[in-house]
Amino acid sequence: MVEKRRHVPQRSCIICKKKTAKHKLLRLALDEKGRVVLDKEYKQPGRGAYLCPDDSCVAKLLTRHGEKRLRWAFKGKAKDITPKTIDEILAILKGATRKHE
Ligand SMILES: [Zn+2]
Repeated sequence: MVEKRRHVPQRSCIICKKKTAKHKLLRLALDEKGRVVLDKEYKQPGRGAYLCPDDSCVAKLLTRHGEKRLRWAFKGKAKDITPKTIDEILAILKGATRKHE
């Protein structure tokens, strides 16, 4: 496909700060209880936090440092990441459930 000079929305990974096209990053959002969930469709309302689908960024997200980053990204509203979210992220890393259209 020929690259057109159209503006692609860019977002920064909350861990490594690298800017990448939005749809190449994982989007994290908050559910109604303030838990961090994976927004696979990029449709959840409200603030989002973006993360590289990359082993090192995901590993860092699951540390205390990553926790702080999430709180910062969601202006202190994030509670914690649900185990389901972590599973989903890890599954995407393995390419198991990747749907990318
Ligand atoms: Zn990253």
